[in-house]
Amino acid sequence: MTVTVRFAPSPTGHIHIGNARTALFNWLFAMQNGGRFIQRFDDTDLERSKQEYADAILYDLHWLGIFQDGTEYQSRRIDAYEVAADRLRDAGVLYACYETPEELDLRRKVRRSRGLPPVYGREALSLSLEQIAEHEADGRKPHWRFLLPNFADNPFETQRTEVTWTDIVRGEETVDLASLSDPVLVREDGSFLYTLPSVADDIEMGITHVIRGDDHITNTGVQIALFKALGAEPPMFGHHNLLTTASGEGLSKRSGALSIAGLRESGIEPMALASLAVLVGTSDNVEAVASMAELAKRFDITSTSKSASKFDPDDLIALNRSLLLHMSFETARDRLVAFGITGDRAEPFWNAVRGNIEKLSDAANWWRIVHQGPANPPEFSDKDAEFVRTALDLLPPEPWDAGTWKLWTSEVKEKTGRRGGMLFKPLRLALTGLESGPELADLLPLLDREGTMARRP
Ligand code: GLU
Repeated sequence: MTVTVRFAPSPTGHIHIGNARTALFNWLFAMQNGGRFIQRFDDTDLERSKQEYADAILYDLHWLGIFQDGTEYQSRRIDAYEVAADRLRDAGVLYACYETPEELDLRRKVRRSRGLPPVYGREALSLSLEQIAEHEADGRKPHWRFLLPNFADNPFETQRTEVTWTDIVRGEETVDLASLSDPVLVREDGSFLYTLPSVADDIEMGITHVIRGDDHITNTGVQIALFKALGAEPPMFGHHNLLTTASGEGLSKRSGALSIAGLRESGIEPMALASLAVLVGTSDNVEAVASMAELAKRFDITSTSKSASKFDPDDLIALNRSLLLHMSFETARDRLVAFGITGDRAEPFWNAVRGNIEKLSDAANWWRIVHQGPANPPEFSDKDAEFVRTALDLLPPEPWDAGTWKLWTSEVKEKTGRRGGMLFKPLRLALTGLESGPELADLLPLLDREGTMARRP
């Protein structure tokens, strides 16, 4: 059977680095197994779901390097869920309930005060036909619960019922169905909550592996029971740990924190983000991996830790630097064109500056410095100004190459007696206006003689 995975966010906001982890785990797992990756939008909550968010999620995923074999929207598949719900009703495992949220709340409080677990007591199962008729006459609409298979003959006498699976991330996992309330699958207004559509889709779309965050472990117990109630073999499951910020805070689509879009706009490279999102909280080192194919080679889903992983957004900057430092001109070329960095000098320029930039767009600043001079005229002491003038007057004639800097500065050293920082600092300042930056030996040939002389204070 072809390995088939899905990434199933609700389009209720912009996805963040934690969502990217789920998407990438699925994507890399599909890559490793020659499998298929289905994009599914869990958008049955029509009020909160928006097409613009779905579009933004697709954009973010493509930018990251994830390409779908198919895209599905749950809001367009309601008929399939009606069929599944009818099937459960026919089997007697989907039953109508009429309690209001206030009534349920009160019951939970009573159960707690009696030292009982606050699970739903299945009171709706004992409603008489008259009581149901009364509720209907009052204008109450039912919501529908799935009768969990956690009893022998009498649903009011639940017994420990273990659902066990071999999690592809965590190993043996167990959920006791007697510890859970029968989940509501259909709301009063007939709309579906996430639980049933997800299973109906996983069956129909031939999903072989459900890979998602470990906040879904309990759902998996319920959903395995649902697969069986619908006569289907459950897929394999894998639950990865979640990412939290350094202070232990969870990430949320609604808060917009660390969104993929925001990180992209701040100049983070897709592979820096992907490397961190995948490797943090695994036994592998977090380092910048240059391509998805390489990341797929390294990725081992079983090496993921079981506890939440803290990560520091600043690590992204270090990974970005490292990716740029090793980025070939070939790879950078098209994006550099967008900053006007073109022509014969573009390649040596890129090779000169790539080790000194935090984001690719920083190259544009260096291009400006090379072509237009320092952003602000550097300020020198009288002595240094005199020194720089003397030094520039010693510039060798063109043609210039990588050896010109050495040749020139040796001459300057000899003529002025200056060396070390006394020699190099004022020259760097004169040429770039900054105290640090790319190797001057690499920059000098890019400035050429006329451009360098133009910097004479
Ligand atoms: N819409 C669910 C979520 O975003 C999907 C969970 C799943 O993968 O089944 O958490």
